[in-house]
Amino acid sequence: MSARRAVVTGGAGFLGSYLCERLVARGTEVICMDNFLTGSPDNVAHLMGGPLFRLVECDLTGFVHVPGEVDLVLHFASAASPADYLRHPIETLKVGSLGTLHALGLAREKGARFVLASTSEVYGDPLEHPQRESYWGNVNPVGPRSVYDEAKRFAESLTTAYRNSHGTDTAIVRIFNTYGPRMRPHDGRAIPTFIRQALSGEPITVTGDGTQTRSICYVTDTVAGVLALADSDFAGPVNIGNPAELTMLALAETVRELTGSSSPIEFVERPADDPAVRRPDTALAASRLGWRPEVEASDGLRRTISWFTDKLSEEPEALAG
Ligand code: NAD
Repeated sequence: MSARRAVVTGGAGFLGSYLCERLVARGTEVICMDNFLTGSPDNVAHLMGGPLFRLVECDLTGFVHVPGEVDLVLHFASAASPADYLRHPIETLKVGSLGTLHALGLAREKGARFVLASTSEVYGDPLEHPQRESYWGNVNPVGPRSVYDEAKRFAESLTTAYRNSHGTDTAIVRIFNTYGPRMRPHDGRAIPTFIRQALSGEPITVTGDGTQTRSICYVTDTVAGVLALADSDFAGPVNIGNPAELTMLALAETVRELTGSSSPIEFVERPADDPAVRRPDTALAASRLGWRPEVEASDGLRRTISWFTDKLSEEPEALAG
């Protein structure tokens, strides 16, 4: 069932901004709550002034109050790129714990459905491949990435406890690597980094020997999966991602080809605890939500490159970071 009034936490971020946009387009009133730690009002500027959209600057780790009825809470607030969460380790743990507590409290108070944006990172460096929702993961609890991975694992546990103890209508979506327009050129994730480097003629930096794999999902597919879950009564956890798997080296080469760049590929040190493989099993999303990704990587990358090309020609300073 479609919501009438929704709160999107982290709504001024990459994924959150698309969720706000899609909800408004289908007639849902949206309250977007964000502290702009890694997001920006620019991402939702096109929605501002419209009758169905309101942007509220708010830190989810503090007191959260929303007047009036709410029937859906999409909890997306959290730094998501490794560069961001390593720069903001305590903030990441706080928004995953306290922020999730407050977002769940809001959903409970309003009797709203709640969707937690969890992540494939809960599987850590996986010993099972592809990853099914039944896999418990392989996470180093004191490694550098733990601030994000363990915050999300805690958030999943807290969400489950609210469902079991308070009867809150919760759902958990485990999102795999998603890309598309509105990613920041310097957010540190592989796709914006490769595109920025290729467009500026710098070396494309691939970590390790580039044989580690990821499965990349275009943003409109991910958002469709999240909203299918929000509209359902399924609790999950459910994987949303594109099972087409490619090595980092192949991704770098594809970006270089699609941009027509002559940037060389340079191999650099691989970060600690970087997962060797990553591919979602999406059978559950297909059977319970009728969801399948539709956008091929070559098509999604072309659209993303075109957006970055326009952005970097309008704001050349964005190349410098
Ligand atoms: P993003 O950094 O672009 O967006 C996160 C937003 O949360 C930002 O606007 C940021 O300012 C806001 N935020 C952070 N801390 C906050 C706080 N304390 N109070 C209020 N707002 C706060 O990241 P994204 O890629 O859009 O990711 C959004 C969500 O989806 C995150 O929860 C992330 O863990 C999850 N996710 C994303 C991906 C992906 O590939 N993009 C993959 C898995 C999971």
